[in-house]
Amino acid sequence: MEIRFADIELLRYKVPAFETLSLRDKLYTYHLAQASLYGRDILWDQNGKYNLQIRYLLENILQYSTVSHDSVQWQAFMTYLRQVWFANGIHHHYSTDKFQPSFTRQWLTEAWEAVPADRRDARLTEKDVARLTDIITNPDIMPKRVCQKGDDLLKGSACNYYDESITQKEAEEYYAAQKSTAANPDRPVMYGMNSRLERDKDGKLRENTYCMDGLYGSKIHLIVNELETARTYAQTQLQKKNIDLLLEFYRTGSLEKFDEYTISWVGETEGSIDFVNGFTEVYGDPLGLKASWEGYVNILDREATQRTEIISNNAQWFEDNSPVDERFKRKDCRGVTARVVQAAMLGGDLYPSSAIGINLPNSNWIRAVHGSKSVTIGNLTEAYSKAARESGFREEFIPDKDIRHIINMYGDKCDDLHTDLHECLGHGSGQILPGVDADALGVYASTIEEARADLFGLYYIADARMYELGLTPTPDAWKANYYTYMMNGIMTQLVRINPGCDIEEAHMRNRALIGNWCLHNGNAMQLVKENGKTVLRISDYDALRKQVAQLLAEIQRIKSTGDAAAARDIVETYGVRIDPGLHAEMLQRYKTLDLAPYKGFINPVYTLVRDNDGNITDVAVDYTETYDEQMLRYGRDY
Ligand code: ZN
Repeated sequence: MEIRFADIELLRYKVPAFETLSLRDKLYTYHLAQASLYGRDILWDQNGKYNLQIRYLLENILQYSTVSHDSVQWQAFMTYLRQVWFANGIHHHYSTDKFQPSFTRQWLTEAWEAVPADRRDARLTEKDVARLTDIITNPDIMPKRVCQKGDDLLKGSACNYYDESITQKEAEEYYAAQKSTAANPDRPVMYGMNSRLERDKDGKLRENTYCMDGLYGSKIHLIVNELETARTYAQTQLQKKNIDLLLEFYRTGSLEKFDEYTISWVGETEGSIDFVNGFTEVYGDPLGLKASWEGYVNILDREATQRTEIISNNAQWFEDNSPVDERFKRKDCRGVTARVVQAAMLGGDLYPSSAIGINLPNSNWIRAVHGSKSVTIGNLTEAYSKAARESGFREEFIPDKDIRHIINMYGDKCDDLHTDLHECLGHGSGQILPGVDADALGVYASTIEEARADLFGLYYIADARMYELGLTPTPDAWKANYYTYMMNGIMTQLVRINPGCDIEEAHMRNRALIGNWCLHNGNAMQLVKENGKTVLRISDYDALRKQVAQLLAEIQRIKSTGDAAAARDIVETYGVRIDPGLHAEMLQRYKTLDLAPYKGFINPVYTLVRDNDGNITDVAVDYTETYDEQMLRYGRDY
């Protein structure tokens, strides 16, 4: 753990793949990484009208105020500033509720007044500071960034994608009109994606577009400069072409150009370095139109990707040998090769909190016609599991030293392998009988589908073939995966659910279904009390695998025949309800570990290394910059 505050913990990720790159590839990565950082302020501004000014104020106080650092108020100030940095604004990154600082309004004013006159940030006037102080300390102003309920979602939302005077109805009508006059209605562009909707002096609505001569043109200029330099080091002709199209989009703001870029980007799979840079996800807009800016760069993890290739090359063998009824097996099985990558830089809306898997583009018609690219970010998952290993979680919930040992040795590798089997084979396996409605299972469909993919993975991870193919480190390593999977499904995942509630989310239901079904339909495992604590004991792993096979066959039958009654029955019996006593115990034991519910990442620092004549000879990576240092540097340099 690097640093912990409020409900946040910062982790550090390493990029070993970077060290294996040629100098040219390192420079390609370096300039793409720079381009990922220059859009930071765009995101801060999108998240709220006053976010940037508030950051200037807080950083000014941090660096120059002579107020005592040895006080409860100062500690509260540091926590607040670190929260604001983390959320790229004054609202929580996940709940979107405004942060409530524990320092007083009066203290903040004093702290600002204690910044020497010649050190004050010139971008802020006295009037600004008074208003910002109000916004920071009055909980009634801008209470939520993204409001999901109410008469007017825009009125209730503090995000900055629309002028304050614009109503939800006006905005919806504006975009409905754009859509109705679309040149190609089957292939709609992402209307409104890269603009702020404003009102001109005649009261008419108009879009202020993010582009080189438009909104945030100065930042986009810097992004474009880095992309232009990166282009000179591109690995393939298609990468060059893609950068040209993206540059054209940044110059013009044209959404047709963006689609052209996206289609070309989906087709580029030859290079080992890839990136995303632009207006991407729409969760920050209550109307789901405006996309927040994000940037990231990734490097292909060849070894891990080889693993998914082995799996997909053997797809038909896995299908033919699975324990499901012959009628439900697919005759033309082709696995999917998942690309495993290492993040080299996270920026914009992917920093510091990041996704661990990314599937783009978001345009529905482009996905349907041209496909999508999906990656698993291996070095981020690795940082998460390292944190989990050090959290005391395993010591608390797995008292048996022997099983804990194999989990510590092989658990991560096997979990990755299980995910690969789930994604590359599980979802693609099996077939629905002719005449069966694909939507027959209704609300239970996604739980059944996820259970099917997970069971396929569980069944095969224990197969001797896995070891023969070199995918598991020892013939017994799969037991680590069985133990953690079952423990999570039956017990520990309950910590994410509030007391008195049922399990609702499909993946969680599927894990509970598998765990509880196996627990109650055989003797392979038991829940026992040890020293007053509930513990899962697996006494017969081979018998447990037989149960997995039996359940896989049944779940596949339900899916293939569209047996809605059986789907409802099995999900409701094993996957929804929670034993209140077990639930309370899990919550209580989890609480004693005092773990942070949200995590994010500190980026590495890349520096150009030059010889005496000024020629670049290498790009150095450093992992020692602290969170506070990094945030201040980004504020200054980007
Ligand atoms: Zn899935």
